[in-house]
Amino acid sequence: NEDQFKKVISHAKEYGYIFASSEIYDGLSAVYDYAQNGVELKKNIREYWWRSMVYMHQNIVGIDAAILMHPTTWKASGHVDAFSDPLIDNKDSKKRYRADVLVEDYAEKLHQKAQKEIDKAKKRFGESFDEAQFVATNDRVVRYKTQQKEILERMARSLEKEDLADVKALIEELGISDPDTGSKNWTDVRQFNLMFGTKLGASADSAMDLYLRPETAQGIFVNFLNVQKTGRMKIPFGIAQTGKAFRNEIVARQFIFRMREFEQMEMQFFVRPGEEMKWYEYWKETRLKWHHSLGLGEENYRFHDHEKLAHYANAAADIEFNFPFGFKELEGIHSRTDFDLKAHEEHSGKKLQFFDHETNKNYTPYVVETSIGLDRMFLAVFSKALQEETLEDGSTRTVLKLPSILAPVKAAVLPLVKKDGLPEIAEGIINDLKWDYNVIYDEKDAVGRRYRRQDANGTPFCITVDHQTKEDNTVTIRYRDSMEQERIAISEISEKMQETISF
Ligand code: ATP
Repeated sequence: NEDQFKKVISHAKEYGYIFASSEIYDGLSAVYDYAQNGVELKKNIREYWWRSMVYMHQNIVGIDAAILMHPTTWKASGHVDAFSDPLIDNKDSKKRYRADVLVEDYAEKLHQKAQKEIDKAKKRFGESFDEAQFVATNDRVVRYKTQQKEILERMARSLEKEDLADVKALIEELGISDPDTGSKNWTDVRQFNLMFGTKLGASADSAMDLYLRPETAQGIFVNFLNVQKTGRMKIPFGIAQTGKAFRNEIVARQFIFRMREFEQMEMQFFVRPGEEMKWYEYWKETRLKWHHSLGLGEENYRFHDHEKLAHYANAAADIEFNFPFGFKELEGIHSRTDFDLKAHEEHSGKKLQFFDHETNKNYTPYVVETSIGLDRMFLAVFSKALQEETLEDGSTRTVLKLPSILAPVKAAVLPLVKKDGLPEIAEGIINDLKWDYNVIYDEKDAVGRRYRRQDANGTPFCITVDHQTKEDNTVTIRYRDSMEQERIAISEISEKMQETISF
């Protein structure tokens, strides 16, 4: 809901996670900077992904290709001709929207209405409720679901046929209005290319038109044979990459959900032709498990299988996440066929084939891709982690329940008072822990307030040094989520932390 979303945005700023870019100049639309805590959370998410992809799979290696690529890359990939979104303007408000997103939002509302009916019935019937039967037979639910499906299918068909007039007709038939002003006075729908252009070289006649990459995938495809040969990789194998991508998005609302400069984490998996569906299913399942492993609640994820397929794909699904503004795409899993490698072979005149010793055949591999936005993942984790809790004594606390492994600061070390040698002991503990963890020192305010500050910051452990520490070398360790406290020896701290922070 909207309130929760506003809280997420203001909390991200207040606690040094995310700032608007060039804020002193009133910001730059849909561009954001990661602050002192944000950069750590983002790095930890990236690392969690990288470890599970690259270190956990003997047949996946990583690369880091340049953002700038030879311009023919984007001709071959289809981005010059087809990387565009259908755009529509409202004539009264002069606001610009993505026509497909307006329709998708409308369809999502129907889904929510159906869900409401289901939830109501669930409450009414309790244990004996048969959800599948209810969904199949309840008039209202059937109507909502059918309409939702029809709308999405019609839009997919129209976009496929480039029938933009029908997309506009659909918007008018559904009576979709400008979300801000309610006006229904729409322009025609037209296509808008999302790539940012730039120039290489200084002199006017030799300058070359380039694009900032709109996805990291192509850097992997053009390096396919280099990696395969030098890494002596055998099919099936994968190449993983994280890095910036740029898209001149039409509507860039929703904070870091849709940015103009963002980061992707992609893995292209090269397989034998004909085996792509097996691997597509494998990666769908594996990626969902990865998400579940973070413990944000399995009910917050769902698959959405695409009706409309991009020009390069023969199967595609999204993993959608329950963001504060509803279920939206978090990650895409695409079976890209041999489209990209074949296109690069054609445009470069170089063979990008693999000799399979098992079958004694040369072929252009098929590709299954997993592609997730790092910033979107950040938003998913951050928005679910941010919670307002009512405690037993009736007071409330704001707590950022980040998975410990992702938390920017793993522990805060707090001397109870600023004297009697306690700060020195705290410094000593930090000097031990800092080799393994990002830990901080905090001596300001009463210890209770310091705990709350660390709760809101997402720090999973607080370690308090008091006068007893001087006598027996023990400290109090306090856990963020349970707020429980325990007396342990200084020598045990690292091990205690390890229990929840290891990969
Ligand atoms: P959408 O339909 O939301 O525009 P997409 O289908 O174009 O996304 P892909 O091209 O499949 O997205 O990109 C893969 C992933 O990159 C997405 O699942 C998303 O997490 C992320 N992503 C794409 N565009 C953006 C953006 N503008 N800002 C942040 N993340 C993005």
